[in-house]
Amino acid sequence: MLDSLDYERLDRCKFSCEKICSLVCCNGATVITIDEIKDFYKIFPIYIGFRKYSSMNREHRSFLKNIGGELDDYFIIGDFIAGNRFKNYCLALDTDNLCRLQKEGKKPLQCQVVPFCAVFPENMQDIVFLQQRQLRFSKCQGYKESNGLDYVVWQDGFFTESSLRDAFYNFQKGLSKQSKFMKEILLSIYKEDFFKDFMEGEGILEMPIPIAMLFPILYEAGFSEEGSLDFILTQTRICQRELNENNLENTVIEDWFNELLELLNSYVKFIKSQNPL
Ligand code: SF4
Ligand code: SF4
Repeated sequence: MLDSLDYERLDRCKFSCEKICSLVCCNGATVITIDEIKDFYKIFPIYIGFRKYSSMNREHRSFLKNIGGELDDYFIIGDFIAGNRFKNYCLALDTDNLCRLQKEGKKPLQCQVVPFCAVFPENMQDIVFLQQRQLRFSKCQGYKESNGLDYVVWQDGFFTESSLRDAFYNFQKGLSKQSKFMKEILLSIYKEDFFKDFMEGEGILEMPIPIAMLFPILYEAGFSEEGSLDFILTQTRICQRELNENNLENTVIEDWFNELLELLNSYVKFIKSQNPL
């Protein structure tokens, strides 16, 4: 367990997003929850990502235990990746370098929460804020140093901006809702070599949504039977476009495309067998 006492702490986090540097955070892919799949399946390829986390205290440990699997002193948390990590630009980034989804009032929760992170408790977000600044967000222009109260978005353990707090807790709600699927997927892969490599290394384990779990996941995400078929057809088209147009080697998208195609072929065969003429 990591101890929050080991980290520099802040009374206040001051932040205001400056769109001029969107390429720092809008490259490739974002992360969404099960509750957002319906909003974004027509825009992004959607597949699964697992990450390793260490707990920071007892409260955090029980949260991580609830949403993920526990292995070798780590908690493994699964989410849905939306996009193509190998690209430099997010598919929702407009030519003016602004987020098209934000303009439409549909920005993904994770994108509303950055540079904070909903996998850590609200009262430890100052630690996340500082860590992000040293790592992925080192070129982010949104960190503010003013002496006054301008730009304060988190203070003494709490978010002070209601939209940020709502996005944070809605993301946590999504993590809890999808956790039963993520735990089941973990159980089916934890003995595989690729999973062992992930545990020994750094970074994300990406994989297609297992076909055996696709319909239960879509049902939980609010799709009807007809909607599920539309999801499959749309994702197949989007993956094909990513593989053809961008000429980027993304094996996860390739695997996802092949699995969807196989599923569609089986479906067509089934329909034909029901209507032989
Ligand atoms: S890098 Fe930071 S300030 Fe720049 S667009 Fe992203 S979140 Fe906003
Ligand atoms: S969805 Fe919008 S805010 Fe999120 S990474 Fe893409 S362009 Fe950026």
